[in-house]
Amino acid sequence: MCYAIPGRVESVNDNIATVDYFGQRKKAISEIEGLTRGDYIYAQGGYVIEKIPRTEAEDILSTWKETFFELQELDLRFSRLDLGEKGISKRFGGIIDKALEERDLSKEDLLYLLGLKDPKELNILFKAANFLRQKYHKNACCVHGIIEISNYCRRSCHYCGISSANMGLKRYRMSRQEIVDAACEAVNGLHFKALVLQSGEGAGYSAAELSEIIREIKAKAAALIFISFGEMPRGDLETLFHAGARGILLRFETSNPSIYEKLHPGCRLETRLRTLRDAAGLGYLIITGGLIGLPGQSPEDTVNDLYLTKELNADMFSFGPFIPHPGTPLARAKPPAKEDILKILALARFIEPRRANVVVTTALETLDKKARKEGLLAGANSVMLNLTPLKYRGLYSIYPHRAHETEEIGIQIEETLALLRSIGRAPSDIGIVDHPRGLKC
Ligand code: SAM
Repeated sequence: MCYAIPGRVESVNDNIATVDYFGQRKKAISEIEGLTRGDYIYAQGGYVIEKIPRTEAEDILSTWKETFFELQELDLRFSRLDLGEKGISKRFGGIIDKALEERDLSKEDLLYLLGLKDPKELNILFKAANFLRQKYHKNACCVHGIIEISNYCRRSCHYCGISSANMGLKRYRMSRQEIVDAACEAVNGLHFKALVLQSGEGAGYSAAELSEIIREIKAKAAALIFISFGEMPRGDLETLFHAGARGILLRFETSNPSIYEKLHPGCRLETRLRTLRDAAGLGYLIITGGLIGLPGQSPEDTVNDLYLTKELNADMFSFGPFIPHPGTPLARAKPPAKEDILKILALARFIEPRRANVVVTTALETLDKKARKEGLLAGANSVMLNLTPLKYRGLYSIYPHRAHETEEIGIQIEETLALLRSIGRAPSDIGIVDHPRGLKC
């Protein structure tokens, strides 16, 4: 089983490799010494992460080839667009045409789409987003793994169950050995190619310790590593980049500064954005986005969240529902409707059709088990599986009853692959279409 497809290097110029995947060409940054034409590699998020022996690659490719084209066929069938629907409003039809022609949608257009209620129009909205997803990302679906290394946190975000103010939660901090073992098992045992290491902010690991952990993982397992430890000074981001981290997952949560300050006592949105901008400047891939359904949030705020994610040059849009946690000040608030989140995934695809990946979050699946499939058919092309050891997973209680909280990883993998197969998606990340550093293919 494999979460990426090997590619054959066509050429290498400076450190940019052109890679062939069954006739599709992609570019990827290579940090591997001596990579040459004819080599076989795995790439993730636009980086070559591993060179593999020719025989092994040819073996994998020959078993994949038939399935790959069969899946593409099926995906194409799911992405077909029939806009001949009767009874849709002229305004709606005009906005969808604009989106499909990839003309910029105005704020009013996006607000109009967010307000849709008619099931027929919603169906067209999701289909149009899925059409654009297929057009630019084909049937590739990123399957990243996440390991939640500690639930200690110094912040007291009003919505979050691992907030320092939640005294009722038992805390854990995985040891260096536990983290390295979990990461190596994910990569070498389960064949994940991209991993997110996440914890609460200020969870008790120094930048030097985290850097040693990342170096050890990189030495033992070929993977693209994302960090998700909250806000950090530029110097720490730099240290972790040198250690081998290449991506950061950090949501700005809300683009509305006054809601941000209300929900994050003593914190400022500008500081969070500075971490994201510093990380982008250092070359990190960026996963960001916000929480939807926070008290006081308006549809205008949501549209601004989408624009901010685009402005931050996000490689992946991460938008999910706020789910109330009983041990927080927002215990009595209501979560948003699933449809509201699906609309936002579709809108994310509309405003960034070519470059960005759009993830279906675990929180959305927590609202409704069917939402992973629905999200993937509404513009999304990415999922994240929880690889935190089971003995700790329940303690990473950001909100209650998280989807997959008690599921063995083998079951998560089986179910994910079955779902992807059923809608014609290949669990792969086959390079980049465009990269903030200016790569295009
Ligand atoms: N310390 C890191 C940070 O600041 O991004 C990562 C940990 S933080 C707990 C991870 C994410 O959990 C946050 O970005 C937030 O959006 C999400 N989260 C926290 N509480 C949530 C809730 N009640 N419902 C949905 N998502 C929540």
